[in-house]
Amino acid sequence: MKANCIREVDVAVIKDAVAKLCVSTNIHLPHGMRDIISRRAENEESKLGKDILIELCDNMDAAESYGIPVCQDTGMTVIFMEIGQDVHFIGGSLEKAANEGVAQGYVNGGLRLSVVKDPLDRVNTNNNTPCILHTKLVQGDKVKIIVAPKGFGSENMSALKMFTPAASEEDIINFVVETVSNAGSNPCPPITLGVGIGGDFELCAILAKKALCRDMAVRNSNPFYARMEEKLLDRINSLGIGPQGFGGRTTALYVNIETYATHIAGLPVAVNMGCHVNRHGEVVV
Ligand code: SF4
Repeated sequence: MKANCIREVDVAVIKDAVAKLCVSTNIHLPHGMRDIISRRAENEESKLGKDILIELCDNMDAAESYGIPVCQDTGMTVIFMEIGQDVHFIGGSLEKAANEGVAQGYVNGGLRLSVVKDPLDRVNTNNNTPCILHTKLVQGDKVKIIVAPKGFGSENMSALKMFTPAASEEDIINFVVETVSNAGSNPCPPITLGVGIGGDFELCAILAKKALCRDMAVRNSNPFYARMEEKLLDRINSLGIGPQGFGGRTTALYVNIETYATHIAGLPVAVNMGCHVNRHGEVVV
């Protein structure tokens, strides 16, 4: 490839973009979240459930007006980066820049620092690093950065199951619904749900996480999986868990499924539990 086809991107630009997204995603929830909760409040049969949903909307409004995080758990920072293959990074290490962006965003933004350096030693890193960085090479000369701070009240309720290819759609639905049922009030319902189907052990979990980052108004492009998303939402909202677990018909706001090819001998399924504070934001540089 000729050198003039390459676009240089200074990693300082990535660092700044990550820092800004860490702060903004913790204050402003994705477009449509307030509307969907407000609509659910109108239709919620449980009086307590309705009151809770209204309070969640008030909480979002307060976060917006005061410029403070929607939730005290400001999450571990997950970053998906789609990197155009015609990009050449200059100015240092991309991974280091992403982590410096997280540190800058969390420390300067006054966000809670929730990351420990070692899973057993449990000593806080005091700047919310390291982040979890997923990179993918795509065509072009742009870099798309998605930042998704993930709270662990919901993350801890996630599950993965390696089905055999004999599993039916109903088997998968039952597994997802059972996962939500077992979680009860722990993920701060109303929840949002990312489901990954296919790939291998680790990819189906990443698919589930990516599903949580998809616009809530966009159904799976495959009509079969779009219907499955609706079926899952109906089944989950029939569980009666309700807002914050106090009963009602609003247990989940939406279900997003992402799929990938898999092996003839397997059928991995992952459920990534999100809460109503399902933060994600993106920018293209
Ligand atoms: S599960 Fe969500 S709403 Fe509950 S504490 Fe964690 S981030 Fe906050």
